[in-house]
Amino acid sequence: MAYHPAMPETSSERLYTGWRDLYRQRWEWDAVYWGTHCVDCYPGNCPMRVYVRNGVVWREEQSGTVGAVEPGVPDWNPMGCMQGVSWSQSLYGPDRVLYPLKRAGPRGQGRWNRISWDQALAEIADGLIDAIEESGPRSILREGSPEVVTTVPAGRFINALGGLDTDVNGSINDFLIGLYETFGKFSPESSSDDWFHSELVLLWHTNVVYTRIPFYHFIAEARYNGAEVINISPDINPTHIHADVQVPVNAASDAALGLALAQVMFAEDIAHWTFLKEQTDFSLLVRRDTHRYLRQVDFDPAGREDQLYQWDPSAGLRLADRANLRLNGFDVALEGDYPVTLASGETVIVTPVFSLLRAKLDAEYTPELQQPITGVHPDVVRMLARKIATRRTNIISGANACKMYHGDLMERAMCLVLAASGNWGKQGTGIRGWSAGLHDGMGIALAKPGPGAENTEIVLSARDAAIASIKQLDPTMTTEMAAREMSRIPRGMLRPFAAMLDRTSGKVSGGTAPPAFGWYRHAGFADRWNVREWGDESLPRTFDEYFTEAVASGWWDGADMPEADQPPRVLIECGGNMLRRTRGGKNALLPALWEQLKLIVMIDWRMNETALYADYFLPAAQHYEKVAFALPGAHVLNLTFSDRAVPPAGESRNEWELFRALLARVSERAAARGLASFHDERGNVKPYAGLEAEYTLNGYYSDLEKLSDEQVRDSALAGTLPPRTTLATFREQGHIRFTGWGLTPLALSQASPLRPDETHNPFRDHVEQGVPFPTYCRRAQFYIDHDWFLEAGEELPVHKPNPRMGGNFPLGLSSGHNRPSVHSMNHTNELVLGTHRGEPTAMVNPADAAARGVADGDLIRIFNDVGEFRVRARLGPSVQPGQVISYNGWDGPQYSGWGGANEIEPGMVKWIGFAGGYGHLSYFASNWQPVPADRWVRCDFVKA
Ligand code: SF4
Repeated sequence: MAYHPAMPETSSERLYTGWRDLYRQRWEWDAVYWGTHCVDCYPGNCPMRVYVRNGVVWREEQSGTVGAVEPGVPDWNPMGCMQGVSWSQSLYGPDRVLYPLKRAGPRGQGRWNRISWDQALAEIADGLIDAIEESGPRSILREGSPEVVTTVPAGRFINALGGLDTDVNGSINDFLIGLYETFGKFSPESSSDDWFHSELVLLWHTNVVYTRIPFYHFIAEARYNGAEVINISPDINPTHIHADVQVPVNAASDAALGLALAQVMFAEDIAHWTFLKEQTDFSLLVRRDTHRYLRQVDFDPAGREDQLYQWDPSAGLRLADRANLRLNGFDVALEGDYPVTLASGETVIVTPVFSLLRAKLDAEYTPELQQPITGVHPDVVRMLARKIATRRTNIISGANACKMYHGDLMERAMCLVLAASGNWGKQGTGIRGWSAGLHDGMGIALAKPGPGAENTEIVLSARDAAIASIKQLDPTMTTEMAAREMSRIPRGMLRPFAAMLDRTSGKVSGGTAPPAFGWYRHAGFADRWNVREWGDESLPRTFDEYFTEAVASGWWDGADMPEADQPPRVLIECGGNMLRRTRGGKNALLPALWEQLKLIVMIDWRMNETALYADYFLPAAQHYEKVAFALPGAHVLNLTFSDRAVPPAGESRNEWELFRALLARVSERAAARGLASFHDERGNVKPYAGLEAEYTLNGYYSDLEKLSDEQVRDSALAGTLPPRTTLATFREQGHIRFTGWGLTPLALSQASPLRPDETHNPFRDHVEQGVPFPTYCRRAQFYIDHDWFLEAGEELPVHKPNPRMGGNFPLGLSSGHNRPSVHSMNHTNELVLGTHRGEPTAMVNPADAAARGVADGDLIRIFNDVGEFRVRARLGPSVQPGQVISYNGWDGPQYSGWGGANEIEPGMVKWIGFAGGYGHLSYFASNWQPVPADRWVRCDFVKA
């Protein structure tokens, strides 16, 4: 199955005259193309030059063409990582699959027959029709993927059939839930060059030297510019080498550290009081009797439920402005008790949020009180707090805290540190999330009723009208809020505009499902989530009681999801690797979900763990074999192009053509079976005929080239790319800086101007203009008086111990990305393997190893009550006693026993993710939803 292209030759008559010939041959090529890697190697977007000789990608190199944006700030070059500069090795790797395959033995046995595309498409089409006819279109499930190159074709295919896409952030959990709870959005993301403006960099829950190789240099350059770098981590990781201070915090105790930092800033009166009076909910009044906000409905039953109050020291009670955060000459109290008389005639005492917060911090989180939790000396806490309060401070956090069970509490505490010190909304400050958007043409082109600019105008006008009409309902709404409301029409985040057209044309469409409901109902996770000691034992109710209440309350009504009586029948895996990615892995999914699936189709360019358990394998073109763009977002602010440098290898096809052919075959097979139409879940009737025409806009999007060109043109018309930009422009330039945010919610959530000659820092509109946040209270919200938060004692950020996920074992398993192989797809590449001992390892402390008779390089069995996996031990004093580090990025079959660390993860979901019915705490695709926790799972190990 391995693909070994002929060694490129420029001339068969070449004579070998010495080693210099070999070197010179490296610099000979037939053609050079732009390339990048369209996976979510966050943030990626490195432009490469791809060299082709004799029809083979010969090598690639960094283009070095991304210049400085702001005078005085370094340029971006060279962007790249070893995964990217050895991409062509993966392209021709031994795990590449070149022909359609059909399973020949039981799932997972690894026996396949090569079949024709014709046979594969016909049999898969029949399976899809069977599922639609017998169980309804929503029994067709496709796992969402961050591999952006697959998102549009697969999403449009699912949309055409009325199936379900899972919400990718509900699976991979790059959703920083604590940022969302605080700001109403988790996507603040400065451009990476903005790091240069920082005076103090807190590397907290991140290992940037390891995982952000193209961008780390901005931190090093900030350091040369006088910034101080603080690394906060339990272990001594590669990032610590370049830090000025290492803070060895105990694992999973970060919330206590953050709260103590804030306590010091308040106690020493070095907090930024005006900033937090305007930007946060600290001044909002809370009733001491109910612990609820004082609301307008308390005085007037016809008043707004979300209209809250402040106390003006000179004038008394005042309505908190929902339209603007600036005080504009008023003052508001942050402390004190005030009597107010309600409509009922009852007099109650109210107090500002800050007084509750301060009392809690002083009682529970002084530097001395946090030390037993975090292990950090009180002097270090005070030293850090004083630095943070006086400098432009930047918390560079990865998507790691959010993968802890109580990661939301840790992130809320980090946000509190920034609030107290006035550190967001100006260059060099803030905290990182995950952003996307900007390339609006991706959605517009798919929503158009017809080709060309005139149809683009229809979509642009429609979305402008939709935003205006939403704002009319509430004039205090910002465009960001209105765009969010528009996208909350239950569809995928890339289909908000398609949703508008669906309503006018009556087309059926699929939806994006928060996957937790499917896991609970059909994948066996209900049993796991109800193990009390694996979750938050302080809760008064069982997991099932919260789940049942969430559903009964209607908090998730309207969200597309598999219902309890509708098990999935077909799984389409395209751009993902579900068995490796899902917390719980094969251990969880094979006995439950897999048993119900009658058809599993894997679409990929290489054999991987999930493929081994599929029924059909359809070979996809690799990244240098198709036209694509990298994931656009605020971090780089460029749209980065990857060209089709060589034709797809073997019989592989790009996903656009593949799904087009499959839809055509569904129509054909349905006609042959005498089937005319089907019903979607909304009761609409859809003909089987014409699926391909719908997919291609009546043939207009004949291929990926045509679609990509239209998308670029539409982004230019929408104003996010320069006027008259086309695909040909990208073929010349490779990458182009965005010129506007457009109208996608993730882009608008940056809430800052986008200027051509300035680094980007989010939230400037909130700070400079007082634009409100999209939270329930319209401010950065640290007090959440939702029933569940009050019941859990989490109305304010607090520290809670990590649950004993996986059982009562002495060690905690932490993780993170391998250097820099973010995804398993590149971890079979020889160059990447060579940087990682060639196989998966687990890092353990020498004392823990000695106690178990384990030496460096020994194969060990890591286990808990959920499962086990085998891996070689790497001993290092850099790992804290009690800690096991298993960097991920390995594919299951690279482990002895074909299973990695996710086999011991119970895949717990914090119950609070099911909360809803409260302002921003309501389902929002790729944002608010239940997400899995996988860090600090309990475990032990023995020599295998
Ligand atoms: Fe850059 Fe990602 Fe490619 Fe690495 S894999 S070079 S980070 S785009």
